[in-house]
Amino acid sequence: MNRRKFLHQTAWSMPALLWLPSVLASCKKTSVDDLQYSGKVLIIGAGAAGLYAAQILLDQGAQVTILEASNRIGGRIYTNTDFSDFPIELGAEEIHGENSILHEEALAAGATFLSDELEDYYYFNGSLKSESNATENTLFNSMLQSIDDIVNYNGGDTTAAAYGEISNVSDNVVHIFNALVGNEHGTDNTRVGMHGLRTEAERWTAGDQNKMMRNTSMFEVLAHACPKAISAVLTEKAVQRIDLNGNDVEVTTLDGSIFYADAVICAVPITQLKNNSIEFIPPLPTAKTAAIQKIGMGRGMKIILQFNQRIWPSNMASVYGKRNIPIFWVTSADGRSDAFILTGFVNGASAEYLFGLGEEGIILQALDELDELFGEATTAFVSAIVHDWGSVPFIEGTYSYPTPDMGNAIEILAQPVGTRLFFAGEASHTGGHTSTVHGAMETGLRAAIEILQSNRDE
Ligand SMILES: Cc1cc2nc3c(=O)[nH]c(=O)nc-3n(C[C@H](O)[C@H](O)[C@H](O)COP(=O)(O)OP(=O)(O)OC[C@H]3O[C@@H](n4cnc5c(N)ncnc54)[C@H](O)[C@@H]3O)c2cc1C
Repeated sequence: MNRRKFLHQTAWSMPALLWLPSVLASCKKTSVDDLQYSGKVLIIGAGAAGLYAAQILLDQGAQVTILEASNRIGGRIYTNTDFSDFPIELGAEEIHGENSILHEEALAAGATFLSDELEDYYYFNGSLKSESNATENTLFNSMLQSIDDIVNYNGGDTTAAAYGEISNVSDNVVHIFNALVGNEHGTDNTRVGMHGLRTEAERWTAGDQNKMMRNTSMFEVLAHACPKAISAVLTEKAVQRIDLNGNDVEVTTLDGSIFYADAVICAVPITQLKNNSIEFIPPLPTAKTAAIQKIGMGRGMKIILQFNQRIWPSNMASVYGKRNIPIFWVTSADGRSDAFILTGFVNGASAEYLFGLGEEGIILQALDELDELFGEATTAFVSAIVHDWGSVPFIEGTYSYPTPDMGNAIEILAQPVGTRLFFAGEASHTGGHTSTVHGAMETGLRAAIEILQSNRDE
């Protein structure tokens, strides 16, 4: 069972009309070939969404500037190249599905992939079990079945934790249920909403493969996909105000610079809209601000640990423990390197707890949890990186997740305001691909198409 695979194995059951936006968003770049735009566009945020929107618009003749608040390009794509002899992803790492722009671009960038023959391990009933052993256990299988059944959930909107109780997920495996559902969705089961999970399962069209690149980094793929866009980025330009009252849109940054454009794409993380770090003049419609508050996004972190020997089984891909860090995977797997590196990934309440321990405390906690799973972690430990996305300015979280009673908040977020303000970013993907890189790129494509179409419609 690979991460994220579980929710996407099901057939689509939505009426075609409802998932038309996702069909549009998964169109290839070539769908815009006959559209031209000679105006000026400002894009706020140099993550996958903003960069991909810029690349499309630049290809179609627009004059584009990307304003990025931080001092680097990529947002939640952040590759570390000095911790080991291969790229370590502090942010996005896997390609979720082969039917996506990202997978296409990865192939074009020359990426090869790690084998998917390795096994996942699960700790429950007092011992560590390989996937083949775990799937001999009725309680474990019934928990997996409950996950498969999310697509058929027809109750009221509630949390995945409540759904787990209704569907009798056993206490013995509830931590694995949390790892596969809540943690995978950037939070924990007490916060993620069932209707949003169901919608994702229904609309997902990218395929169910989860692929890790061998030696091509996520940033290299993004740079390969968006070469012109990268040259259009101005870093350390934190946008404070977007004023739509004049003939041109006026955008002001923290350092007092003012930029003018015909159209703006706002491609910042949902956290930045939730905390009103950008002032919109006139204010955003009430329905939009309400929708923004309903979409979740919170603290999460990756803990990268290097050891002087392999302490885990030789065929292990990932391990699901029972304590604070729901999953670790073998980053150095499949002969990728002679180094021995695990990545822990934790979101939601557990991430908040770990944050309170401080960096050293987090590493000690991770080693303690690994000692319990395998022994020898503390003695074999060499070095670590803790990357807490909750503390990264202008991002402040991992990725968006659906909350109970969120309704059509994503659709409302995605809608343009008037004819000059457009929205992109992973949280605005209406086709079930939120919280992914390819989803972010697809929202960039959507916003670019909206601008190109608006030009044609004038
Ligand atoms: C730990 C982690 C693991 C992940 N794993 C995967 C994975 O394996 N596979 C996958 O597909 N996805 C994964 N994701 C999700 C994926 O990284 C994101 O969905 C995607 O990169 C988001 O792109 P974006 O353009 O929407 O936002 P971002 O990448 O966040 O870009 C937004 C940019 O806006 C900038 N900004 C914010 N405010 C302002 C402002 N006021 N003015 C100017 N600029 C501003 C930010 O600095 C940022 O650079 C992961 C994410 C994290 C954090």
